[in-house]
Amino acid sequence: MQITAKKAVVMNYHLTDDHGKILDSSRGRKPLSYIQGMGNLIPGLEKELEGKAVGANLKVRIKPEEAYGVKEDRLVQKVPRNQFDAGEIKVGMQFEVNQGDEYRVVTVTEVTTAEVTIDGNHPLAGVPLNFEVEVIAVREASAEEIAHGHVHGEHGHQH
Ligand SMILES: [Zn+2]
Repeated sequence: MQITAKKAVVMNYHLTDDHGKILDSSRGRKPLSYIQGMGNLIPGLEKELEGKAVGANLKVRIKPEEAYGVKEDRLVQKVPRNQFDAGEIKVGMQFEVNQGDEYRVVTVTEVTTAEVTIDGNHPLAGVPLNFEVEVIAVREASAEEIAHGHVHGEHGHQH
């Protein structure tokens, strides 16, 4: 059976950046289950997996545009230091801010006595992703799984 829309897929994956740093991996953990075509994975990886079958081994490099997007300057803001009531603001701290209609996780990237720079880009924005993927199982997703948008049972949601 090939991977097409609404197929439930079980796979092992290993993700590194261009410097070989491991960003995420299922090695030593349980494999990942997802439903193809429901936006569970980044678009570039779904595209690469389309049409593949059990036993397929992929080594693919996904560009930022097909992964977590490019870095957007408009999401980097300088905020007056006195707008923060937290006692200590440090580079690397993350918190949620309300920007218009959406909540966005921002990371503190610079702190001076007058200003705090916050970056609302995804930490992997602008980063090409190198995936090694092994397809372990492919089956039809059930109507219930499609309604929930995730896989149930072994390797999936237990509820
Ligand atoms: Zn469910």
